[in-house]
Order: sequence, then structure tokens, then C-alpha cells
Amino acid sequence: MEKRADLVVANASELLTCKENSPDLVGVVRNGWIAVREGKIEAVGTKEEIEPMISGSTEVIDAAGRVVAPGFVDCHTHVVFGGTRVGEYFAKIEKLSPEEIERRGIKTGILTTLEPTRGHSLEDLYSETASRMMDMIISGSTTIESKSGYGLDRETEIKQMEVNKLLESRLPVNIASTFLGGHGWPQDVGKEKYMDFLIKEMIPSVGESGLAEFCDAWCDEGHYTAKECEAILEAGVNAGMKPKLHEGGYSYIGGAEVAAELHAVSADHLNYVPRRSLRKLADAGTTGVPLPGIDFAVGHDRPFDPIPMVEEGLEIAIATNCCPGCWCTSMPFIIILACRRHGMSAERAIRAATFAGARALGRQDRIGSIEPGKVADIQIWNLGHYADIAYHYMTNPVGVVIKGGKVTVRDSKIL
Ligand SMILES: [Zn+2]
Repeated sequence: MEKRADLVVANASELLTCKENSPDLVGVVRNGWIAVREGKIEAVGTKEEIEPMISGSTEVIDAAGRVVAPGFVDCHTHVVFGGTRVGEYFAKIEKLSPEEIERRGIKTGILTTLEPTRGHSLEDLYSETASRMMDMIISGSTTIESKSGYGLDRETEIKQMEVNKLLESRLPVNIASTFLGGHGWPQDVGKEKYMDFLIKEMIPSVGESGLAEFCDAWCDEGHYTAKECEAILEAGVNAGMKPKLHEGGYSYIGGAEVAAELHAVSADHLNYVPRRSLRKLADAGTTGVPLPGIDFAVGHDRPFDPIPMVEEGLEIAIATNCCPGCWCTSMPFIIILACRRHGMSAERAIRAATFAGARALGRQDRIGSIEPGKVADIQIWNLGHYADIAYHYMTNPVGVVIKGGKVTVRDSKIL
């Protein structure tokens, strides 16, 4: 007997499968249908193939005239934070001198976020973060990576990752939790002493807690050196966490070599990374994650260039990088920036926001594309053609979100 579907998405004008080896990068199927069963994609095909799987209890969603795509995988965020840095944002826009910034008492940089994040209770930090995350969910994100790194002490780092757990348990989204104790160091402690504490105490105890899947650090001039990042990430690997690395965002000091050597799941930012190092990342199977949102928000002197990345064979993902320096919750907006400001094709940007995002989290076997066996994380855009997602600057083009086979968002509302 034919297998019955719990849910069918019918009649998509364009169904983007985003399968890994799609020659057009997005695997477009015209008049595509999807059958979902027990939270997973059962079949993808034509009306003739899928319609017999509909029974009386099947929920059928008509996607006529619209685009159907995998849920977005937002693979780089610092969404759990307290406070605001709007003063710093306008100081950059107005190109204020360091003296003027000081005179006006404007605080800048990630250490500014430490105080409010440390000061928030778990519930307050959760509710501020949840409101940002609900916006991400109605904008089509079904899996979101979320980093700690605004505590730089044991208590707050753990609190940030506890918020990740709460977000996943209370909202229709999967969270990939990353420990970013190597985001910086508290000025009152100093780098050397903090690193010692990080490697000998914090990383082993975070590993034991099971609160983080990934361990991350920031490799750049004025931050951690390549050698220091190597020590941090190796300690993470020994504690059972997979490596990720912020590197080459504002200078190039050899982070890609470390990321490649450790087979990091992702290397993020990459503005200054030279070609030969991009090639090493590609060869190591690492996914590159350039970040259009932060380049836009800070008016970056050297916005990333995807062309050498593609030419050197690097799989590129894009992400919101939602943080106090780049308050972005919308993957569609990130796609607009990736295309218009960085010269990516719509196909490249959509793949980067779905399949490649999943790859940057090591989850490409479960999510990121629409094919049988994968989790039914699906979205429907109120657009007739997929390239319109980078062309129509809409408030929100996402009409429906399906998470794990259940309709969770309709008309910009979480159900
Ligand atoms: Zn980051």
C-alpha cells in the first residue's frame, strides 16, 4: 500500500531542493510537490507522484504561484546578549574620531556588552533573546547557531548556553550551541591569565556540561594569535567540541591555516584571507562563512569577495551574525546584501543560506535541502520567482514556515 502523507506541499511554482550536487546550485523543480511523514520528507516529485499519498487526514498546503525552499540555516549568530550598542553604530556612521567618541562617553566593542549580559538574569536574557529569535523564525530560519562569548567568565558563559537550551525547548527552532570563550578576555584579568583559565578550566567543564557542540575563537590582530587559537580549539576538541574559527575579518594572521589543520567545520568572516589559504580551507572540507551583515553594519573597508572563494573551491555559507554590532534577524535581508553588495548570484546566495549553512554546522545530512529522509524544515515565499528574494526589498517575503513537518508560521505569526 502507498505510504500516506501527514502533510503535502502542493503545486509550488518553483521548488528549490538545494541538493548538494544541483548543477544550478538550487535544484529548481517546476510545479513541485512534497510529501511529509512523521516529521521527515517522504517524497519530492510531481502531482502524479505525490497526490496518491494524500488521505483524509493529510494537511495540504497549496503553494500555487509561490516558491518553496528549505528552511534557512543561520549558521553564525551572537543572538544571546544584553544591552545595545546603538551609540557605537552612529559613531561609525558619523565617522567620529576616537577623541570625539571618548569625549561623548560612547562605549565601543564587545567588552561593552559584557556588563549588561553579565547583569541580566537567565529569564531576562532569555526573553530579550527570544524576541529577536521569533523575528528570525518568522523570517524563515529553522536552525540557528548561537554563540556564548559575552560573559568571559564561567557563570555568564554557562548562562548564555542555558538560554540556548531554553530557546530550543520553547520555540519552533533548532539551536546549534557554540562556546565562544575565546571571543576576547576581560581587561581586569588580562589575556595570559584568562587563556590559562579558559584552556585548563572553562573548556573542560563546558565539554562535560554538554551545553556546546562547537568551540570557537577570534583570530585577528589585537585579538588572539593563530597559535593561541590553535591551543583554544585543540582544548575544545579534547573536550568533545568541534572547532569553528572567526578569522581574517580585519587582518590576516594565519587563522585559515589553523582552521584547515584542525578540519574546522567552518571558518568565518574571511575578508583578508589570501587565495592559497582559501584553497587550504576548501581542501580541508571547511565551509567558509563570510558575513554580509557585519560588513554592511560597520561600513567595512574591505567587504568580502566571494569570487576567489568560489574559484578556490570553497563552499560558502552566509549568516545574519546577529549581535549588538549587527542587529540583523533576517536571512532574506542577508541574501539581498550578499547579492547586491558582494556580487553573489541569487542561486549562490540561496544555497549559502540553506545547504551550505547546514554544512557549516556539520548537519548537511539532516537539514539544508529538500530530499527524502531529511527533516521537513520547509518555507514558502510569497514570491513567484526565487530570484525575487534578492530583488524585492520586502518587510518579509516568508509566508509559511514548516518546522519538523508542522506548520509553525503563517502570515508572519508563530502559531
Ligand atoms: Zn561572530
